[in-house]
Amino acid sequence: MDKIIVLIGAPGAGKGTQARLLQERRNIPQISTGDMFREMRSLDTPLAREVQEIMASGKLISDEITYRIVRERTSKSDTAGTFVLDGYPRTAVQAEQLETLAGEQGKEILAIEVDIPAEELMKRLTGRRSCPECGEIYNIYSKPPKVQGFCDMHPECPLDHRADDNEESVKTRLDTYQANTAPLLEYYGRSGRLSKVSGIGDVEEIYAELSALL
Ligand code: AMP
Repeated sequence: MDKIIVLIGAPGAGKGTQARLLQERRNIPQISTGDMFREMRSLDTPLAREVQEIMASGKLISDEITYRIVRERTSKSDTAGTFVLDGYPRTAVQAEQLETLAGEQGKEILAIEVDIPAEELMKRLTGRRSCPECGEIYNIYSKPPKVQGFCDMHPECPLDHRADDNEESVKTRLDTYQANTAPLLEYYGRSGRLSKVSGIGDVEEIYAELSALL
């Protein structure tokens, strides 16, 4: 049976990095609601502006809008089989909505927790930079690019620093994760659909552990 793989973990746990590897190496499409919302930056509509404002503060976009973009994205032909959700669901309502979607698509949900201690996260997030061209993720403390501020693969590309990767927004995002998203671990655990990998250590080792679960 095709699956919907749900990566759950605090902001900065490395969900995006792992989802990208699954896409590159196993051809499993990565669907990141955060990336989709960030792409709306280029649209000059009241909704797009509202979304950017909410994101910058570290709060969540409404369940209704989020479900709408997830439905639309997962109706494309590349998501007819197994795909991975990175950053969705994040609330109990979204988890319910995903049950409906999985039922309609005849897929089973497999949730995987990417577990990481809270004290590690602030440094990871405030130090995070990414290439706007290829999406490669760097960290000024733990994985600096060869030339400060520029991508190794695209030396012409200044790295992005996300508007919500500042200390104040990170605090809000971590609190929001604890309050709204962490309870989903219990929800998936109760129905026997939860696995767990450690988000600490080498990216390749974490990937090997994660990949073995699929
Ligand atoms: P991320 O890139 O996953 O850290 O998401 C960045 C921001 O996008 C979040 O802090 C929220 O403002 C918004 N966002 C992403 N996914 C969701 C979601 N499932 N529900 C509500 N808001 C979301």
